[in-house]
Amino acid sequence: MRVPTNALSFKRRLLKWYRRHARDLPWRRTRDPYRVLVSEFMLQQTQVSRVMKYYPRFLSRFPTVYALSRARPRQVREVWDGLGYYRRAANLHRLAQTVVRDHAGEIPVEPEQLRRLPGVGPYTAGAVATFAYERRVAAVDTNVARVLRRVFRPRLAAGARGERKLSAFAESLLPRRPTTAWEFNQALMDLGATICLARRPRCEVCPVRFACRTECVRREQ
Ligand code: SF4
Repeated sequence: MRVPTNALSFKRRLLKWYRRHARDLPWRRTRDPYRVLVSEFMLQQTQVSRVMKYYPRFLSRFPTVYALSRARPRQVREVWDGLGYYRRAANLHRLAQTVVRDHAGEIPVEPEQLRRLPGVGPYTAGAVATFAYERRVAAVDTNVARVLRRVFRPRLAAGARGERKLSAFAESLLPRRPTTAWEFNQALMDLGATICLARRPRCEVCPVRFACRTECVRREQ
């Protein structure tokens, strides 16, 4: 996919907005890959406000990947209890054991290596690579995919092939500097979570509305 004509304007507007309105989230104040990983596991299918309660509790009980790897399944379950989808906790526990056993306690940097860990799919691999290691890789979850589809209206095949193309497209948009790419990925998350909502997008207050192809269509109608 070629870079669309509205890409530059979109990126400028998005970054400007993010620098003023970024959500202050505890996992954004760290680059510790273990902490970023814990946040990403918790955020799967769970709202930020709920994760905010469980995240510090989990980390005070299991502050390192080593501490988590040594825990018994029952202890992990107790600390996770109330957050739901316990399978995530079981996968996180197995992941910690794998990292200690096979990677000398170091969480891998490369998305391809991350994907081989228990419970890590393409999005989580990208998220850890960019949010912990500041790698220039895309992290496309449902919210980000929605934003990109609305702003650029790309023609994509359905299914996994379309998702891979969208991810490659997201990567092509990333700013060159790794720290700015980190901000850009976080900004996409915030826009999808707070403005470009699934059912009722808040176009009237959207910082990228003048660069958005969906909003242009709406304005012309
Ligand atoms: S203008 Fe509307 S559709 Fe476009 S990104 Fe903003 S909220 Fe989403």
